[in-house]
Amino acid sequence: MTKSDVLVIGSNMIDLITYIDRMPVEGETVEAPDFQMGFGGKGANQAVAASRLGSKVSFISMVGNDTFGKQQLANFKENHIDTTGVGIGTKSSGAAPIFVDPTSDNRILIIKGANNELTPEVLDKYVDLIKNTKIIVLQQEIPLETNYHAIDLANQFGVPVLLNPAPANKDLDINHVSKVDFFSPNETELATLTGMPTNDMDEIKQAAKHMITLGVKNMMVTLGSKGVLWVAKDRGELIPAVKVKAVDTTGAGDSFIGSFAHYFAQGEDVPTALKHANQYAAITVTRRGTQKSYPTWDEMKALSG
Ligand code: ATP
Repeated sequence: MTKSDVLVIGSNMIDLITYIDRMPVEGETVEAPDFQMGFGGKGANQAVAASRLGSKVSFISMVGNDTFGKQQLANFKENHIDTTGVGIGTKSSGAAPIFVDPTSDNRILIIKGANNELTPEVLDKYVDLIKNTKIIVLQQEIPLETNYHAIDLANQFGVPVLLNPAPANKDLDINHVSKVDFFSPNETELATLTGMPTNDMDEIKQAAKHMITLGVKNMMVTLGSKGVLWVAKDRGELIPAVKVKAVDTTGAGDSFIGSFAHYFAQGEDVPTALKHANQYAAITVTRRGTQKSYPTWDEMKALSG
């Protein structure tokens, strides 16, 4: 039986990044100066980050029966991710056309495709993977019901579960959130879920504490260049980000979650794992790209002396 350090249950997408001078208007065709394809999807990004750091990572995900699906599978293998739980659906692979204008502003479309075929029933096929891991990591690019089922199974088998509620979904059921060990929204996602303001640190703390009163064990609110606010029942602290010159913050949140899962699975306590996740994510923002900006453990070691 496969035993993993980290089990990620979630999405994969192919990013289709088109660099534009301007968006065409209706009926118009415009030439765009550049294009790049990249591997993405929050689940896949988090799995890659944990695996590059040396965790044994299993992934439960769905790809389409198409060229993108084959490329995704090859990418998981190249990143040493166990693909026992990756299924092939009937819809197209997930894809994200991204339009980047000269001021670096983004317009993003998401086609979830096969990711929507990751239903609660699929998880029942992989109960062994769910039982035999040190932490389960979830995000919100697959059906919410699948995440609820994952949380119930994790609770049943006593496996810690981390929910990263991104992208924000106002339909997220608070009863299920209250059963997770780690809940990691950014300020905006925290405001969407609680309906409370999160405009300054005091408001963010209040909203995070509210989630603790509902039963969440650890709140980890990511705050970009400010770092992360950790709040538990009788403890909490702001763990500051590492100061760096950021050039591209795409995928920083996913690198943070994936690396936290790795450090936690290695046995670190929560604040230490968060400090190391801040260090990992800080390196990724100094490099361009999403998965390609994620360092390996050797690179991390070299960079931190
Ligand atoms: P995303 O925009 O990728 O969805 P997010 O909003 O969930 O991400 P952020 O809070 O922007 O996540 O960033 C996650 C973590 O990445 C931060 O907690 C921090 O550790 C690191 N980070 C992000 N931006 C910077 C920065 N400019 N300098 C240093 N660290 C950063």
